[in-house]
Amino acid sequence: MNIILLGPPGAGKGTQADRLVSERGMVQLSTGDMLRAAVKAGTPVGLKAKAVMDAGELVSDEIVSALIGDKLTEMGPDKGAIFDGYPRTAAQAESLDAILEAHGRRLDHVVELAVDEDALVERITGRFTCAVCGAGYHDKFKLPKVEGTCDVCGSHDFKRRPDDNEETVRTRMAEYRAKTAPILPIYEARGLVSRVDGMAPIGEVGAAIDAILDG
Ligand code: AMP
Repeated sequence: MNIILLGPPGAGKGTQADRLVSERGMVQLSTGDMLRAAVKAGTPVGLKAKAVMDAGELVSDEIVSALIGDKLTEMGPDKGAIFDGYPRTAAQAESLDAILEAHGRRLDHVVELAVDEDALVERITGRFTCAVCGAGYHDKFKLPKVEGTCDVCGSHDFKRRPDDNEETVRTRMAEYRAKTAPILPIYEARGLVSRVDGMAPIGEVGAAIDAILDG
């Protein structure tokens, strides 16, 4: 099964993708994660992408589509793919069609996580992760059980994304509205889109997604 999780920054795409990975053995293809890894490793792609990401703008379609194609080749044909944060423009949606076809795959579902934008700013600017195992936390909604200690691995080292500040978040949302939301009708015309209330508690969002995938 191949699915796209679509929604503005902070809608919960990564959280839901993590769950689908652990519960269904699917593979998460997050262009944001791939780009952050490239920045950290100092690759040519990372060097090009860093300033664009820090500003909350979109990296070029060619770069992200190449990352997705490489990852699909690397993961082989057996596992389902969750596209998280890709496609983000009409050109990327077109590339994805071609990439999927070249890999003998087809798109099964586009799940739109619908959310209230003002609440998103609070969600995003408060989030942080364990620097060792990647477990996700939030200043207001999900603090570690013991202050300063990761619930999952016990580490005391946490990090925040540099683009999770209010100004950049506003730009990321404007990019979503201008360039990403307009690709929904492409998928709606193919009968692939299901809308889920992304403001519901995490478990309920997960149950709604499961119902779509199993339905
Ligand atoms: P994300 O982790 O999905 O919020 O992505 C973080 C940042 O990486 C975005 O604000 C963009 O700068 C860049 N990025 C991630 N995915 C894409 C994409 N599909 N197209 C263009 N830029 C992307």
